[in-house]
Amino acid sequence: MTTELPRLTPHVSDWMTSLTDQPQVLDGLLETYGSPVNIHHTGPFQANYAKYQAVFEAHGLDHLVCFARKANKCSGFVAKARDMGIGVDTASYHELEECLSMGLNPEKLVLTAAIKNRKLIHLAVKAGVLIILDNEDECALTQQVAEELHVTARIGLRICGFEYEGEKLYSRFGFVVSRVADFLKEHFGSSGIYNKLEYSGLHFHLNGYSTSQRGTALQQSLQLAEHLTGLGFRTSFIDIGGGFLMNYLQHKTEWEHFLKHLKKAVKGEADPITFQNNGLGYEIVDGKLHGKLNTYPYFNEQSQDVFLEEILSYESGGESNAQYARRLNIQMRMEPGRSLLDQTGMTVAKVAFRKKDMEGHWLVGLEMNMTQIYSSSADFLLDPFYLPLNTSSEAQPTEVYFTGAYCLERDVLLKRKIALPQLPEIGDIVIFVNTAGYMMHFFETEAHMFRLATNLFYHKGDQAAELSDFAEDTTES
Ligand SMILES: *Cc1c(COP(=O)(O)O)cnc(C)c1O
Repeated sequence: MTTELPRLTPHVSDWMTSLTDQPQVLDGLLETYGSPVNIHHTGPFQANYAKYQAVFEAHGLDHLVCFARKANKCSGFVAKARDMGIGVDTASYHELEECLSMGLNPEKLVLTAAIKNRKLIHLAVKAGVLIILDNEDECALTQQVAEELHVTARIGLRICGFEYEGEKLYSRFGFVVSRVADFLKEHFGSSGIYNKLEYSGLHFHLNGYSTSQRGTALQQSLQLAEHLTGLGFRTSFIDIGGGFLMNYLQHKTEWEHFLKHLKKAVKGEADPITFQNNGLGYEIVDGKLHGKLNTYPYFNEQSQDVFLEEILSYESGGESNAQYARRLNIQMRMEPGRSLLDQTGMTVAKVAFRKKDMEGHWLVGLEMNMTQIYSSSADFLLDPFYLPLNTSSEAQPTEVYFTGAYCLERDVLLKRKIALPQLPEIGDIVIFVNTAGYMMHFFETEAHMFRLATNLFYHKGDQAAELSDFAEDTTES
């Protein structure tokens, strides 16, 4: 070993630190519920919301924050959203039905599902839940259902195709922004074929993490809203979707060092730091480094409230988006998923075996599989916590890869090689922090007939914990 492995030290909240200091309690949970187990805490959820709220209030903007339900399966966060009086963005029949049965205010719910069948539309229209429509077939279906129920359906239009730096941003979702005015004029209003649809606002949700893209998308939405007012269509809200950046890592220097080392390794100028020298998006073509890091930007300086602030204060022509929205008396809405779940969850697993592979690398098998910490990007780039149950006096620092329970060669839980103070013992504990947003649930499957991991909620702060302080989430599966 010539160089030290780069570290990526995650941000952790007090409740996580408190539990990582109590390995016996975590061991008890693994004994009781099996491995892995997901532990959640709703304290940071509220704190994350408060940051967004403060930004809207500072701009004097009417606002509604809707938690994007799909980012985590636990009902506990829906209950928390209800108790806090915020909204929920629902993306399927069961998500919407659960919110209604849990007593959320239908006025604070929004349905944005990418596929909406008749049963789902019926549920939403009947309950008076705002439906964000994506295409004309959905308009026709919603019109039919509203006619059957003898009501009007409150709808918003998802829009896309914003101009940015001379090009139109592509999205497979929504109506092209430049055609919305004609579409409404032609088909909405009392004499139109969609006369049971009550237009009430605009919605977009963009990929990527550029605040100037979001800023200009909001500005173009506001311009459209102003134009629509002149045609007799009042826009009461604009929903700027989700995808608000969050920052997982503590140190910019570590992040930069990691990227530098990764590129060197891929070029063969340094020891590999990933499984089989996986480039995480980088590759060598004709002897040259190509590509770019294909992971979430785990370190960034523009997260959450800062990100929102930049979108709202984006301006051209001397008026910021916030001022524009106030002038038009439009409520601002957003649908954060991942960023509201920052610091709310962690995944705890047990060591099953240690072995040296045929190339001499240590593989540490954990009782969990790759779908239980699965990033839609190339890797989850946070150092895990390793908790030995017994400290060994002659501990030798060891570099390992963590592997999972699926029969696939690629079930390597983290692509990164991880430096540990010692080789883990069987039964020791490994913790992946900050996994509540997407990582633990979004891609979780039951292949091999493995049962889904148990989801627990912990309510204490930083005191000593007992098994009775953890309650199973009540989500029906
Ligand atoms: C997924 C999604 C969200 C939430 O995105 P995050 O990245 O979790 O904030 C919000 N709105 C829509 C329409 C989505 O598809």
